[in-house]
Parts: sequence; structure tokens; C-alpha cells
Amino acid sequence: MSKKTLAVKLSKLKPFFKPKQNLEQYPTDSDVGATALWEADLIGWINGKEVADLGAGTGILGLGCLLMGAKNVFFVEKDADCLVTLKENIQNLSEEYELGKYEIVNKDISHFEKKVDLVVMNPPFGTKIKGADMKFLEIAMLISDKIVSFHKTETSDYISKFVHDRNYTVNQKIDLPFALKNTMSQHKKRIERISVTAWLIERKP
Ligand code: SAH
Repeated sequence: MSKKTLAVKLSKLKPFFKPKQNLEQYPTDSDVGATALWEADLIGWINGKEVADLGAGTGILGLGCLLMGAKNVFFVEKDADCLVTLKENIQNLSEEYELGKYEIVNKDISHFEKKVDLVVMNPPFGTKIKGADMKFLEIAMLISDKIVSFHKTETSDYISKFVHDRNYTVNQKIDLPFALKNTMSQHKKRIERISVTAWLIERKP
């Protein structure tokens, strides 16, 4: 599958029906998701691998991995409401493609302990629950040597230190200006765009 086709397929997925502010339910933009997953697959991180999508939401990242040939994807998401949409998205794509295996895990990420080859995640950025993004990174590091994660570009210095302090190294860092569409009601402008950085990190050998 080409990067363009991947982006188009991801753009057709159903978004959050009613995004919840307290859970920071912001969907990953399809081009942004496709760019990061494409780079990850180029270095051999996705095809044939076992992946956990932490805070899966409506599934864009994990489904992108299945489209790129992941062997098995765990969609870990604590909000049961958005899983209805996730299931529809899986159903629609599997009518068109022969996807790998998957499992929907309706749990808080801190209760998911299976070791995987790769974690993909667009974690809450910690604007509602302080430190939520770092908790996601910590848990990802417990279960995987390789992680694709999105963070606000303005926190890059902090993320870089966090990564290096924990014996991980940055394989790639992709700045994606105006990446995140923020459509929640507390904001004056209906759509605000936030600069996001995709991090491809791995444990040092
Ligand atoms: N991965 C999706 C959603 C990102 S929004 C995408 O890229 O579009 C972050 C998601 O994490 C939300 O769906 C939210 O419900 C979920 N979430 C937040 N805290 C969580 C936790 N502690 N455990 C599991 N899921 C969580």
C-alpha cells in the first residue's frame, strides 16, 4: 500500500462521535498518522509485528498498522463509548482488506501488561490530566522496545530528556506543524491547530 492510499483510507475512518474533553479525545489527522506509520514501516517496525495501540480511540493508528501488514494489534481504550465506532471502522476495513488479527481491550492502559514489538499512540497531551502523556510513555516503555508516539512540539526538550534518561534513543523525530485539529467546545475557535511531533523511539541495545 502506498503512503497516499494509506492516508486516504485513514481519512475515511469514522471519527469520535462525541469526543470527551476529560479524556482528551483528539483524533490523529490522517496525513499525520500515515506519515509516521509509513516511516515506522520503512524501518521494519510494523509489517508482521505485534502492536499495541494505547488509547486507541476510534482506532486510526492501530488500523493503519493492520493496513501496513501488522500481524496482531491490541486496541487498548478505557472509554467503552468510542469502541462502538472503533468496531465499525474495523468492520468496514475488513470488508475491503484481509487484515491481521486484533483484540479490543477495554481497560485503562495501566492494566495492560502484554509485551509487544511496537506501541503506537497519540496520548492525551496532559492538558486535562497533568502528566497523562508521560504516564503513557512510561507504560509504553514497560511493554515495548519500540514506540511511535505523538507529542506537542513545544514539549520536545522535555520528551527528549525523558527518552534518554530511560535508555531509549530517538530513531526519528518528525515535526508536523498544524497537525492536530482541536474541535472541542471550550475553545473559542472551533478548529485550532496544534503543532505536533511524531517520535519514533527505541530501547538502546
Ligand atoms: N489513538 C486515537 C485517539 C487519541 S485521543 C487517535 O489517534 O485518533 C486519546 C485516547 O486515549 C482517547 O480515546 C482516550 O479515551 C484514551 N485514554 C485516555 N486515557 C486513557 C487511559 N488511562 N487508558 C486508556 N485509554 C485512555
